[in-house]
Amino acid sequence: MKRKIKLPGQSTHTRRTMLHRSLAIPALTALEQVSSGSVISRLHNSDYPFQLGVASGDPTSDGMVLWTRLAPDPLNGGGMPDDNIKVKWQISKNEKMTQIVRSGEYIATAQLAHSVHVEVKGLLPDHVYYYQFQVGPEASPVGKTRTFPHPESLPRRCRFAFASCQHYETGYFTAFQHMARQDPDLIIHLGDYIYEGAAIEGRVRLHQGLEILTLDDYRNRHAQYKTDPDLQAAHATCPWMVTWDDHEFDNNYADSISEESEVARSVFLQRRARAYQAYYEHMPLRPRSIPNGPNLRLYRAAPYGQLIDFNVLDTRQYRSDQPNGDGRKPINNAVLNPDTSMLGKQQEEWLFDRLVASQTTWNVLAQQVMIARVDREPGPSALYSMDQWSGYETARNRLLHFLDSRDVTNPVILTGDIHSNWVNDLKVNFSDSNGPTVATEFVGTSISSGGNGTQTRSDTDAMLAENPFVKFFNSERGYVCCHVTPEEWKSDYQVVEYVDRRGAPLVTRASFVVKAGTAGAERV
Ligand code: FE
Ligand code: CA
Repeated sequence: MKRKIKLPGQSTHTRRTMLHRSLAIPALTALEQVSSGSVISRLHNSDYPFQLGVASGDPTSDGMVLWTRLAPDPLNGGGMPDDNIKVKWQISKNEKMTQIVRSGEYIATAQLAHSVHVEVKGLLPDHVYYYQFQVGPEASPVGKTRTFPHPESLPRRCRFAFASCQHYETGYFTAFQHMARQDPDLIIHLGDYIYEGAAIEGRVRLHQGLEILTLDDYRNRHAQYKTDPDLQAAHATCPWMVTWDDHEFDNNYADSISEESEVARSVFLQRRARAYQAYYEHMPLRPRSIPNGPNLRLYRAAPYGQLIDFNVLDTRQYRSDQPNGDGRKPINNAVLNPDTSMLGKQQEEWLFDRLVASQTTWNVLAQQVMIARVDREPGPSALYSMDQWSGYETARNRLLHFLDSRDVTNPVILTGDIHSNWVNDLKVNFSDSNGPTVATEFVGTSISSGGNGTQTRSDTDAMLAENPFVKFFNSERGYVCCHVTPEEWKSDYQVVEYVDRRGAPLVTRASFVVKAGTAGAERV
């Protein structure tokens, strides 16, 4: 029996009744980028169409994708006509947009909510560029982006931030404002970009509407999040690489299986198709990520020169149903079932092939749920979170044994999901605290989910004592900024002391370093 564990304040009681209201939309077949029909190049009697801001993403050494979505009435379906719209774009060497190096036109269609996903090629490696869109007389804000270094170069450094879990209702996105000011080279988002629940009265600010189920629901929810000025500032400051966790669709889902066991798979997959389509429409993803019905291949990789290989993973779409259900439980035989998978066979093979072939100094796995086998129960009994890799013991063993036995160079795991900060030395055998460390896991807290955090919890000392591979634990809000060179990796845990009102200053709560060639993190 599955039950809800992640958001104690979030109501589920409306869900069963709500499922009846939206099943008329058939599962989508492959979406086409440009549909037939007339093209118009200006909007009449319209409010400003660029209210959702601009973004760029998935950089290579010669380009990236540029994103916006035309939505003069963002919270009510977008407010666009059904026509195809001609959107001009240009990319410049300067912020004033007077040194144009590329420009073109993109046809935005109603079928994809008039979202724009322009793939730019032919730019110089490791360069900063600025971009802007235009429809008729209306111009978008100017965004800043950059290319990755050439794949055969060894960059002196990369400075990037990673974040997750931005519940709109439980706090302001102040952390994103600070992140934008820090001007990173790249931002990685590990999921829970939106939350699917209905508005809950009394919160800092409210979701519009009920739990999201229809395509319009998902679009309006993404649009509501995208109206946040701090989130827009972070998108406009550098390229992002995004992946999702569960709340972009539905809490704690696994592949085609809902946490409510009575929902039929076919019905659930129709809803997944709508969620994935809206996700594509609102993210700076390349058109190769257009979903095919309920399937969207999101896992992908990008080398940052010879310094870092970023492997961006999807631990939701292909995973086996939680073998032992949800919640925190002791290890049992279900957890040890060798047939269970967190990544699915295809993604796991793709990842292992990539890790073996990698020539970079650092190999990053950007993913969602915690890998370390952390016992969350103070005292002699042991309880593990069944939605995390601890519920998939054999899949975790395959991954950690692979990193160990194949001598993968300097693996670093980036994790989100649990609204708290952790630094974990990953062991092939977590029961042997003197055994070798094979990788370092940096778990980043939420941007806002959970509301105001605290520096520690009362059970922290006991928890650290029985999990000696845990180097740090903290449950404030914020993100992690990583400074990476060929010699060392430094993670700064950046926190804001409150999110229930705007204006919290940024504090570096702790910093940890991994030396190249030596697994394991040390506090500095
Ligand atoms: Fe979350
Ligand atoms: Ca215990």
